[in-house]
Amino acid sequence: MKFCSACGHAVDHLVPPGDHLPRAVCPACETIHYQNPKVIAGCVPVWEGKVLMCRRNIEPRLGLWTFPAGFLEMSETSGQGAARETLEESQAEVDIGGLLAVINVPYVSQIYMIYRGTMRSPHHAITPESSETRLMSEDEIPWDDIAFPTIWHSLKFFFEDRAKGVEDIHTLDLMTRYGRRPEVTTTTPT
Ligand SMILES: [Zn+2]
Repeated sequence: MKFCSACGHAVDHLVPPGDHLPRAVCPACETIHYQNPKVIAGCVPVWEGKVLMCRRNIEPRLGLWTFPAGFLEMSETSGQGAARETLEESQAEVDIGGLLAVINVPYVSQIYMIYRGTMRSPHHAITPESSETRLMSEDEIPWDDIAFPTIWHSLKFFFEDRAKGVEDIHTLDLMTRYGRRPEVTTTTPT
């Protein structure tokens, strides 16, 4: 940030009294502009055992596959955000179920909150954000063409749980930036 969003004056970057990190501080109106991580809410929508996947029609990772997820809006819950994103990206209406995964991605200051979702009907369709939407069984998931490692891990959690007949809440810290297809096998902390 270079300019104060409250008054337009150029900001200084300094550690405010009593704080421990540099902040953008406006010398004119004294506003301190805090920056904090962003929450991405999403869900794994299920219809008759298949998972609804979307091919991204927007950058980044144009053309790669994901389930619906996006930045939480102000004044909505993470579950509401997950349902809204599902509707926006795939036209599918879902009932949000239990939490599947919380994934920290500190190198981009993001926190993913991924829910289980049940589609209210088999309806889904392309949108400005998705060039293709498709219900997939586990063996149809394009593991090599998943848009983000957070999505890849969440899908692994989902199918591992289903194979075991459980619905656990998984947590994962992705500390290293790597390609969209992780080469490492991760375990879920218990
Ligand atoms: Zn100001």
